[in-house]
Amino acid sequence: MVENIEWLGHATFRITGEKKIYIDPWKIKEKDEADIIIISHSHYDHLSVPDVEKIQGNKSVIITTADSASKLSGDIKTLTPGEKVDVDGVIIEAVRSYNVDKDFHPKPNNWLGFIININKKRIYYAGDTDYIPEMMDLGDIDIALLPVGGTYTMTSEEAAKAANAFKPKLAIPYHWGDIVGSREDAERFKQLFEGETEIL
Ligand code: ZN
Ligand code: ZN
Repeated sequence: MVENIEWLGHATFRITGEKKIYIDPWKIKEKDEADIIIISHSHYDHLSVPDVEKIQGNKSVIITTADSASKLSGDIKTLTPGEKVDVDGVIIEAVRSYNVDKDFHPKPNNWLGFIININKKRIYYAGDTDYIPEMMDLGDIDIALLPVGGTYTMTSEEAAKAANAFKPKLAIPYHWGDIVGSREDAERFKQLFEGETEIL
């Protein structure tokens, strides 16, 4: 575990600290109660209603896109790129996340990546994205969670190119090991990124 970040496989993370945050819960094994549930977009491996139900309690706040919100219930805040929300002192910034050379994640959908300000760190969750120019506007990033599996997102080479450009202090590759991508993709990213990489 790095900085209280657990990778639960594919695109799912749990961050603990001031709050317990789940990102894109999918294939959740144990019931839990999240303070904040963040959902980047409405593809089935990111927005899974049965998995949200396993971790949603009375006080859980869901942060997501408008199209995802329409399939969920409870305390939901919808964001578009450039907006942010303060959930009990945890500031979550919504940033752009889209494909540039494939059609799975069109820019006009306004699907999201996030910067989560927690435990005195700025943690960037990129979402299903390619290397996009907006990554140069993220500001200082302590930990970048980056997809590396290719097909639907950046490949490991493209993710390393992106990380070498915006220079997070630490990078964690994801979107491998299920559906697309393999450990080799994560290892390749680690070879090519000039900063520190942690493969969870
Ligand atoms: Zn997707
Ligand atoms: Zn995906």
